[in-house]
Amino acid sequence: MIYSFEENPTTEQTDEIYMREALKLAKRAFDEDEVPIGAIIVSQGKIIGKGYNLTQRLNDVTAHAEMQAFTAAANYLGGKYLKDCTLYVTVEPCVMCAGAAYWTQISKIVFGVYDDKRGSSKFGQLFHPKTEIKNGVLEEECSELIKSFFRNKRDK
Ligand SMILES: [Zn+2]
Repeated sequence: MIYSFEENPTTEQTDEIYMREALKLAKRAFDEDEVPIGAIIVSQGKIIGKGYNLTQRLNDVTAHAEMQAFTAAANYLGGKYLKDCTLYVTVEPCVMCAGAAYWTQISKIVFGVYDDKRGSSKFGQLFHPKTEIKNGVLEEECSELIKSFFRNKRDK
């Protein structure tokens, strides 16, 4: 999908638009009773990779949203490095996904909300030194989705 803007959008505006796409995927995960995290990868204004958490359906602890988005983007580009790409993910990447992001050398990572328990920042700076990190985009919506998921789990 390519977005066309009448005027040049600010970085904040484009970040919110893409985070909304990641949120749509997170909601799909929610509907499938998966931990609701969604991710997309954007290169030159185009979404080239998508993923949402599928650890239950695939019985695979590595099936995090980011991992699938990395694989899809690398397939699209025909190369393992994701230079000039941005990952949008609704929740802070875990250690595994931060490690995978390191190997991709991705240019930028934008996430919605910190994960106070499993977020990689709890374990040091694991991203590639070249990777720019931004947080807090649509933070409330990203946070509310994940909280309501675990609230529902508790109430069942
Ligand atoms: Zn992860």
